[in-house]
Amino acid sequence: MRDATPEQDQTIYLADYAPVPVTVTHVDLQVRLDPLATRVSSRLTCIRQGPGDMVLNGELLKLRAVRLDGEELSPDAYSLTDTTLTILNAPDSFLLETEVEIAPQTNKALSGLYMSNGMYCTQCEAEGFRRITYMLDRPDVMATYDVQIDADLPVMLSNGDETGHGHWRDPWPKPTYLFALVAGDLIATHDSFTTMDGRDVALNVWVRPGDEGRTAYALDSLKRSMAWDEKVYGRVYDLSVFNIVAVDDFNMGAMENKGLNIFNSKYVLASPETATDADFANIERIVAHEYFHNWTGNRITCRDWFQLCLKEGLTVFRDQQFSQDARGFATQRIGDVLNLRARQFREDAGPLAHPVRPESFVEINNFYTATIYEKGAELIGMLRTLVGAEGYAAGCALYFERHDGQACTIEDWLACFEAATGRDLTQFKLWYTQAGTPVVKVTEHFNDGTYRIDLEQVIPDTPGQANKKPMPIPLAFGLLAQDGSEVVGTQIHELTSETDHLSFDLDAKPVLSILRGFSAPVILDFVQPDAERLTLLAHDTDPFNRWEAGRALAKDRLMRAVTDDADFDAPWLDAMTTLATDTDADPAFRALALALPSEDDLAQSLHNADVVPDPDRIYAVRRAAQLAMAEHLRDDLSDLRESNATPGSYDPKAEDAGKRALSATLLRLQTMLDGGKAARAAYDVANNMTDRMAAFACLLDAGDETVAHSFEQDWQDDRLVMDKWFMAQVAHAAPRDAVGVADRLTRHRDFDASNPNRFRSLIAGLTGGNPAGFHNPDGTGYEFLASWLLHLDKSNPQTSARLSTAFDGWTRYDADRQAMMKAQLERILGTTGLSRDLSEMVIRMLKA
Ligand SMILES: [Zn+2]
Repeated sequence: MRDATPEQDQTIYLADYAPVPVTVTHVDLQVRLDPLATRVSSRLTCIRQGPGDMVLNGELLKLRAVRLDGEELSPDAYSLTDTTLTILNAPDSFLLETEVEIAPQTNKALSGLYMSNGMYCTQCEAEGFRRITYMLDRPDVMATYDVQIDADLPVMLSNGDETGHGHWRDPWPKPTYLFALVAGDLIATHDSFTTMDGRDVALNVWVRPGDEGRTAYALDSLKRSMAWDEKVYGRVYDLSVFNIVAVDDFNMGAMENKGLNIFNSKYVLASPETATDADFANIERIVAHEYFHNWTGNRITCRDWFQLCLKEGLTVFRDQQFSQDARGFATQRIGDVLNLRARQFREDAGPLAHPVRPESFVEINNFYTATIYEKGAELIGMLRTLVGAEGYAAGCALYFERHDGQACTIEDWLACFEAATGRDLTQFKLWYTQAGTPVVKVTEHFNDGTYRIDLEQVIPDTPGQANKKPMPIPLAFGLLAQDGSEVVGTQIHELTSETDHLSFDLDAKPVLSILRGFSAPVILDFVQPDAERLTLLAHDTDPFNRWEAGRALAKDRLMRAVTDDADFDAPWLDAMTTLATDTDADPAFRALALALPSEDDLAQSLHNADVVPDPDRIYAVRRAAQLAMAEHLRDDLSDLRESNATPGSYDPKAEDAGKRALSATLLRLQTMLDGGKAARAAYDVANNMTDRMAAFACLLDAGDETVAHSFEQDWQDDRLVMDKWFMAQVAHAAPRDAVGVADRLTRHRDFDASNPNRFRSLIAGLTGGNPAGFHNPDGTGYEFLASWLLHLDKSNPQTSARLSTAFDGWTRYDADRQAMMKAQLERILGTTGLSRDLSEMVIRMLKA
């Protein structure tokens, strides 16, 4: 029988959580693969744990049979809707069998079982398993699995260990979202790892034939991750095989399915010729991240999707620690903070702001956000600062011991740290429930040998939240003398109330270095004299704050150039030159310090200062600042690039990558002066993709009309390199041409909107890569984005919803731009057949 789906408010609330009345402890699946008619037979071992009917989830399934303890169920013993199968009056324990049919080839949403280049693969997080068979598709139902795959294909993989041809058994209870299945014509690169308790684990990276030469770095990263997690967290791998599969069509970066990680091929495949340093660093980080999930996510999972930060915040923090160990603390931390500010601070300042643990959602896929991931990771870092390294280790150890095999909450996590350290974390929990980036106001006073710092925290109102309570903010700080020597080394002050102050007896006013290492995810409201910032830039013992001082100086100048037409002054340009030429400093650090704040960062900062940002003006001012830096450094540029060359064969190691990053920064400056001459020479001799892309971008900036064509000739058969080609042309087009370039590229024979990487390259090339182009005053950028979101939404709502966030800053801009963006958002919302994903996002953005 089939009831109509009732029309109802689709909002799901954390407060409504209740355990299932009937749970599933074992899943036995048989999957007979066929592109248009895959048969999935499931046998669920069910046990009652409370009163109520068993409601299984299912979407786009053709139900062929349903049996209870071997008997065909009569139509009055169950009910069926488009999204549920309800077993009425189920007994206390029973075996539920269903047979369904699905069509993976027509699944373009890339959720559930689908096909990519002839290969079968799955993506079940968050709610994809319900598109494979009827099941309690929620993370607090953890079951063991036996899976039999039947197909005439050379490789057939699922979770756990292989116990027969196409038969896989996963002994570790897991929720549905960690289920995976892969089948097709694949080739593996093999390696092995011996665990610290002496077990051999087979490691395989599976790719399409022809890609097997590009798996070495992913395998190496995996082995280093396994060793690191043993050493730092005492976590050991728990199966005899670990498989990674590279898939071309994938909505996310990668997925931590138990024993069978599925990756976007962009984050697996790398060779010096085709991948940049950034690609290598991403592969290392993401391989580590997914591997670390084996304990933080898989062995201990989330009770419900509101707790997503429990696995993601913690695992991002762990992968950041790993990358810091692999690549150096300072540059990694600066990179992570740049990312946090660009994505999470922006989100937290706009209509999409939400707490790290949200209270409600319509579509969970819309909450895989920078707030859950990146701010979630910052909360773990603050917790570690507050309880200390030893307390943190003790709390983690208790968490792994107490909750292994369970589906947990943030409360469970925090309780382990309270138990292990005796610290009350009640106030700290506010960080999980209150949205918005706190602003910490800092004012200094120096009188008669007393230096006093006044502190005040303000947490802004966000959608649905006002009048927030003060949170505990760990402020790492130190004091320098005016000559740059350190007077007070790093201390932690916990700001727990709305206002607070610190006093020191000192002979002279010191230079304050506050929020060292970015010890809390807050915005500092602190006006510091240029002379003191220059002292910090030159002498601070905390490398993060050295960089931050340079950043503040640059941002200040750029903002004054926008608002008052101010010139770029000699002291600042001298400081930049000193940095660029400081051979004692790490090249990676110098590259970061020479990079100017992004256009979006400036737009938000101007908006915060009650100035309506003009994207064209911001673009022009940034170019002018680069030109001023270039002219100031004119005589040094060639020599500096030469001294940072990395001759010989390419090595992705951090040291060389830092030199290449500095060299690319300098090449950009050089291009401002020579119209692309040096870039052309660099392009012609490049022996790796990092140098090639850097020169390519400079040539596009310089308006070179031939380089795009020759690049395409060289790389047209490489889909990952071609993604870069699509993106760079849009990002480096002159702002007035950007929409036209993007539009022209959508008609290129290799543009395929159904491939998320390709689609994202082109769209984000405009919205993120070319803000002045996206915000073209004629509104064509907005119309272009809206049209493509509507196009993609029909097949892939997850990706259309995610890319719609380019509109989230719409209320920052002038009345004309606001009206045009609002009109496009309303146009999207007025379209019939809109997905739940995209409509939720647009409704939230329009509420601004
Ligand atoms: Zn993750």
